[in-house]
Order: sequence, then C-alpha cells, then structure tokens
Amino acid sequence: MIDLRSDTVTRPDDRMREAARDAEVGDDVYREDPTVNELEKRAAEVVGTEAALYVPTGTMGNQVAVHTHTEHGQEVLCERESHVVKWELGGMAQLSGLQVRAIEGDDRGVVSAEQVREGYVAEDLHRPGTGLLTLENTHNSKGGAAIEVERIAETAAAAHDLGVPVHLDGARLFNAAAALGVEASEIVEPVDSAMFSLSKGLGAPVGSMLAGGEAFIERARRGRKLFGGGMRQAGIIAAPALAALENRHRLDEDHENARALAAGLDDIEGLSAAEPETNITLVDCSGTDHTAEEFLGACEGEGVLGVAFGEHVARFCTHWDVGEEEVEEAIAAVERAL
Ligand SMILES: *Cc1c(COP(=O)(O)O)cnc(C)c1O
Repeated sequence: MIDLRSDTVTRPDDRMREAARDAEVGDDVYREDPTVNELEKRAAEVVGTEAALYVPTGTMGNQVAVHTHTEHGQEVLCERESHVVKWELGGMAQLSGLQVRAIEGDDRGVVSAEQVREGYVAEDLHRPGTGLLTLENTHNSKGGAAIEVERIAETAAAAHDLGVPVHLDGARLFNAAAALGVEASEIVEPVDSAMFSLSKGLGAPVGSMLAGGEAFIERARRGRKLFGGGMRQAGIIAAPALAALENRHRLDEDHENARALAAGLDDIEGLSAAEPETNITLVDCSGTDHTAEEFLGACEGEGVLGVAFGEHVARFCTHWDVGEEEVEEAIAAVERAL
C-alpha cells in the first residue's frame, strides 16, 4: 500500500528509536526532563524565538496559543478554510469561548492587510473586540501554498497596528521555508507565536512545538496543563522529535515528488492537478464523473491511499516513506483504478 493520506503516517527510523531508548528523562511538569528542555531550547533557536513549548499535537499547540493570546468572549480573525476553523472541532469556541470572524483569503489562502482592517472589531458596548489574528503557512486546504514572508509581514503589521496579536499555524512551517528558500525564522519573525509540527514532514512519532516570547510561553505552559498536556517523562518522545528536527532540510525531496505525482496524475484522462508548491497534491476528479470518495475507493483497490478534500477533490501528500519509485507506482495504480 502506498499511503499518501498524510505526511503524518511516517514511521520513526532507527535513529529515532535509538534516541527514544537512550533518552535521559525526568518529570517534565517539574521541568526536570533534560531531553524536553533541550528540545524546547533547540526548537526556539531554529525558529528564532525566545522560548518554545513541547506539546503532544498541533491542535493542542494552536488551541493553547489561541487561549493564551485572548480573553473569553473575544473574536478571532481567521482564514475561512484554515485548520483552526475547519479541523479542530470548533475548539476556539468550545475551549476558549471565542467567536470566529472568518475571512475569505485568496486562492492560496492569503489574507490581505486590508481584509484584517475590515474584519477588525473594536470593543464597545455591543461588540466583543478582536483578540487575535491567526494565519496558516503552508496553507493545508489550499494545497500546501507557501505564503511569502512579505505577505505574512504585511498582514501581521496590519493586525499589530490595531493592537491585535498574531498566531501562525505553521504545522508545515519548514515546508514553507524550503519552498520559499528562506529560513523558518524569517517566516516566524513578523508574528507573536507559531506552532509547528514535528510529526509531519520531519517524521517524529509524536509532537509539535509552540514558539514565542518568553512571557507568552510561560503563560502557554499553564494553558497546556489546563488542556491536559502536562506530560511526565516526555523525553522518551522528545528525543526522537529532537532528531526529527534536523530532518528539515530534506523536505525539498518531498516537494519534488509531489510535483512529479501531480504531473503524472494531470496526464490521466479526467484528472486535473495543478503543480503543487510543497508536498500536497490536490487532484480534481470531476472529469471522471465520480466523486472524490468513489475515486479514492478505486485507488485503494489498486494500492494507493489518499483523502477526500471536497466533493471532487482528493489530497495526496508526499513524505519520507515514499520516494520517486513509489510515486511512479502510485501514478500507474491510479490510472488502473480509473
Ligand atoms: C495537521 C495540522 C494541524 C494539527 O496537527 P495535529 O498534530 O494533527 O493535531 C494544525 N494545522 C495544520 C495546518 C495542520 O495541517
């Protein structure tokens, strides 16, 4: 089976397994786990922030960030198709009592400075006030678009001018950096906090990081405890995550494979796939007279897995468990399926 459902499906390699076995550990709630402390220090260095916090999942990282930045009852400006809005169970409302004001970004999910100014709500007797702007890079639902540093900076500056902090959902931050040819720290520089996943393209078995200023991360640490994310001998999972953090320079390979996959699928009658910017290939199957679910069912029968991303759109994600050869096999399998 060639599993292209997500870049989360990778298995840890020997180096990561050995790191887990050999990890020095302690109770991280007491901040006595040396491996977690090292991971947090290293992660902050890599993205150029004062501090970072290890969290079990990206969802928790986003939700803790949102909770930490805002007050109950405020509004949060978010791109309409962003992960925090679409795929986190309405967590902002459920966990933090927040209302989303959704902004429709452009076809790559870019939210403009002007849209932030339009969406901003000043607090008064009738209006709750805007407490936060969230941005996403790469933008998952928009096919892994890698949003340019200048666009992030412009939009963040508009929020800052209004006194609104900015959180970046950078689950695939290093994919964005690789595609844009910049350091991840340059993407993070204009925002107040950023979450990035270790368990996606980097291949760690568990975990994400929330990065930001020292005072923010101190408060976020309480938020993580509140949401049930205070872990004990977490060095066991932090050690492979630390090893995975050094995998960030191999993501170009995934991007190349995604482009090859898209080109191959686009050549198949009835399918259309634009050239991906990073490791996410979106395939429109409306030309086949089948829904994405039907199309993916047939693909599964031929040994390829993907996920439906719309009535007629399927998502295939490349990652380090699939190479050039698997991509070629996948294209042939999809052709057979149709
Ligand atoms: C995967 C993802 C998350 C959530 O990460 P989990 O570790 O699965 O909770 C958040 N944002 C984006 C953009 C993602 O792709």
